[in-house]
Amino acid sequence: MKTIKVNVVTPDGPVYDSEVEMVIAKGIAGELGILPDHIPLVAPLEISAVRLLKDGKEDLVAVSGGFLEVRPDQVTILAQSAEKGSEIDVARALRAKERAEQRLQEQRQDHIDFKRAEFALQRAINRLAVSDKK
Ligand code: ATP
Repeated sequence: MKTIKVNVVTPDGPVYDSEVEMVIAKGIAGELGILPDHIPLVAPLEISAVRLLKDGKEDLVAVSGGFLEVRPDQVTILAQSAEKGSEIDVARALRAKERAEQRLQEQRQDHIDFKRAEFALQRAINRLAVSDKK
């Protein structure tokens, strides 16, 4: 089966680098399914799981938003943070989820703090969903 090279890159370095048969990602404007020879494209991503299909199996990478770029021979995902399912620290994500939930319940806070807590909660929930160890 034809494959396409995928790189997931963060400021801390590469997180995923492999040939896959299909990439499924959650764009802000909807789900994207990328097969080899897809037309060039740049799309912003939601805080979400990127699904990488190969050999009848699926790898999951949690991304904290970022951008997906498609070129004829390669897909690059650039994100502020990204983790493979096996790399996710579940206890840490649970702590982050609890912290964010507490902040969202506090009455006295401005819009920016609220948004920040909402995004932190989304990142934590996404990591828990992607983790291998759930
Ligand atoms: P926390 O409050 O636990 O730091 P966060 O959502 O604020 O969570 P980020 O700012 O998105 O964390 O990420 C900071 C760094 O820590 C990144 O390198 C990210 O990959 C890593 N990271 C964050 N949470 C986890 C986790 N649960 N398991 C593994 N790595 C994580």
